Amino acid sequence: PIAKMKGDKNQNISVFVRCRPLNATEKKQGCYSVVNVNADKKEVVVKERHMPGSVSKTFTYDKVFGPNSKQIEVYKSVVVPVLDEVLMGYNCTIFAYGQTGTGKTFTMEGERDMNLQGSWEEDPMAGIVPRAMHQLFNRLQKQECEFSVRVSYMEIYNEEIIDLLGAEMADNPRLRIYEDRKGACVVQGLEEAVVLDKDEVYRILERGAQRRQTAGTLMNAHSSRSHSVFMVTIHTKENSVDGEELLKTGKLNLVDLAGSECIGRSGAIEKRAREAGNINQSLLTLGRVITALVDHAPHVPYRESKLTRLLQDSLGGRTKTSIIATISPATASIEETLCTLDYVHRAK
Ligand code: ADP
Ligand code: MG
Repeated sequence: PIAKMKGDKNQNISVFVRCRPLNATEKKQGCYSVVNVNADKKEVVVKERHMPGSVSKTFTYDKVFGPNSKQIEVYKSVVVPVLDEVLMGYNCTIFAYGQTGTGKTFTMEGERDMNLQGSWEEDPMAGIVPRAMHQLFNRLQKQECEFSVRVSYMEIYNEEIIDLLGAEMADNPRLRIYEDRKGACVVQGLEEAVVLDKDEVYRILERGAQRRQTAGTLMNAHSSRSHSVFMVTIHTKENSVDGEELLKTGKLNLVDLAGSECIGRSGAIEKRAREAGNINQSLLTLGRVITALVDHAPHVPYRESKLTRLLQDSLGGRTKTSIIATISPATASIEETLCTLDYVHRAK
C-alpha cells in the first residue's frame, strides 16, 4: 500500500474511483466481474480468477464507490467539500476520467426521469452538475451577500473549442484562446450567461446537451472523443463587520473528459494512434500537467493543449482538483480498467 503521510502527498488533488454495475450486454456475452471495490479500505482489487497464475492488483484512492453506489453518495463525498472551497473564493475542478461507457456522463450529468414530477435535483439519478448548481444557489441565497453567477458551457473536439451556448452550430467560428493583461486565459467570443437561479442553469444545460447531440450525429464517435467543460464563476460581495467590502471570486469547472481509450495504452500503441490521428492532445497534456504538478516540476505544460490552457487558472497553486475515474467491472474491459486505475493513481 502507498504510504500516506501528511505533507508528503499532494493535498489538493483527490482521486476517486467509481465502478458501474455489469450491464445487460456484458452479462449476455458471459462477462463476469473482475473488480472488487472495498469502500472501507478505499481499495479497488482487480483479479482475473480464470487466468492460470493470475495475480490480483490492488489500488488505493481517497475514496472508492462500488457498483451500487448512489449519485447522492458520490455528490456528498466528492462535491460538497469542493463547493466549500469555491465559495471561499478558490478555483476548483472536478474531472470524470475513464473508458467510454463506464459512467462519466452518468456521474457528471446523471440521468433524468421524465415521468418524475418535481425538479431535476430531486431525481435520484441526477448527477454532479445539477446537484452542485442546486446547492450553490441554496447556499448563496442563505448567505447575507450580493452575488453573481455566470456560466459557460463548451466542448473541445479535435483541439477546437465549440461554444455550446453560443449562436447556431453551423456558423460557429473556431474560438481562439488568448491571454488578457493579467495573464488569465480568455476564450474570445465565448458566451457567458448570467444566471439568477438553478432553473435557469438547467435550461442552459438542456440547450447544451441538445447542441452536443446535434454535433454527435455529424461526426462519428464524437462524444467519446470530445471533452465537455461546464464552467461556473461566482462573485460575492460581503460587508465585513468593520464596514469594508469583501469581494471573492471562485470558479468551479465540471469536466466530462473524452474516453480514456483515446490516449492509447503503451508507447507503441500511442505511436500508432498518433499516426492514425487518433491521439487526443488535450487528454494527453492533462495527464502531463497533473504529473508535473504532483512532482512539483519546474515547468508545467499548460500551453500544450486547449483543455489545459482553458483550465490553467484552476490547476495547481491554491486550487482543488478532484478526479473521478470510472470503470467497468467486466472481464472484457480488464485491460482498459487497469490502464485507468494506473493512470489516475499517478495523481496520488
Ligand atoms: P460514458 O459517459 O463514460 O461514456 P455513460 O455515462 O454514458 O458512459 O454510461 C454508459 C451507460 O452505463 C449508461 O447507460 C448509464 O446509464 C450506465 N451507467 C453508468 N454508470 C452507472 C452506474 N454507476 N450505475 C448504473 N448505471 C450506470
Ligand atoms: Mg459520456
